[in-house]
Amino acid sequence: ATMPPLLSAMANAGRHGVLVKSAVVMERLGKVDAVAMDKTGTLTQGTPQVTGLRPLDGCGLDDRTLLALAAAAEHPSEHPLGRAVLDAARTRGLTVAAVTDFASRPGIGVSATVGGVTVAVGSPARLLNDRADALAVRARAIAAELERQGHTAVLVTRDDRPVGLLGIADRVRPEAAATVAALTTLTASRPILITGDNPRAARRIAHQVGITDIRAGLLPQDKVGAVRELSEAGRKVLMVGDGVNDAPALAAAHTAIAMGRAGSDLALESADAVIVRDELTTIPAVIALSRRARRLVV
Ligand code: ADP
Ligand code: MG
Repeated sequence: ATMPPLLSAMANAGRHGVLVKSAVVMERLGKVDAVAMDKTGTLTQGTPQVTGLRPLDGCGLDDRTLLALAAAAEHPSEHPLGRAVLDAARTRGLTVAAVTDFASRPGIGVSATVGGVTVAVGSPARLLNDRADALAVRARAIAAELERQGHTAVLVTRDDRPVGLLGIADRVRPEAAATVAALTTLTASRPILITGDNPRAARRIAHQVGITDIRAGLLPQDKVGAVRELSEAGRKVLMVGDGVNDAPALAAAHTAIAMGRAGSDLALESADAVIVRDELTTIPAVIALSRRARRLVV
């Protein structure tokens, strides 16, 4: 027997490196007319590097002790930024202390208890809120400086006191710009960028890949809001993401694709399809496969 078109499209998608979870999903992929993309780990390679260590004056930490402290708190984290911090510590031969009470807050950061003190590592804006003391002011200035250089700034606090910042930089995937262009043609609309990172880092990545519509500083529920806004305007939204923070938006989208290699388990479960070959060009490829199959079905 000849295979039904949607099934053979699924097999084809598999050969292209995309695991499509059902024939229904295979069919839906061809109907998307808007795309929302996550930044860290999706448009970027997801293997960021620590580029700067900035202990705050008077906190008694030097570069190495700041990094060791951050690495201890990030040890259990599966976030790309957490892995970058841990890699940097290991590369420098630092001992990473054991922690208890690890907690991760998607879109914000992590916290843990290290030798009796609570260490938090995460978004400067989220961790500082509206604090106006001297340490917070200094930390905000360093964060702005790192962000102007296009880096993601991550704040480290000890018992709620800012003690330093890390600059972290990630490279755009080489195929990201071509993928954005292909998706623009296929869906007749420009993909939007939805990220939990700061607006400056977001703008820099968006500029490199040809995206002009940017939503930055988003918590997981804000990503859902961005997807809903498009849906309510009558669009069939394809959401592409990798993180725990993307999971609710992946679930809310018309169709969702997760990045398989470095994607979190929650993202993989929430998505309708998983990119196994770790290449963004597989996205326009499966949309085209779906459209061809649907022409054969109808
Ligand atoms: P994106 O939406 O681009 O994938 P996330 O929502 O995962 O980014 O992260 C948003 C921001 O939250 C990061 O830029 C960082 O400031 C902070 N953050 C989240 N998780 C961590 C972590 N494990 N370590 C440090 N910072 C984190
Ligand atoms: Mg991400």
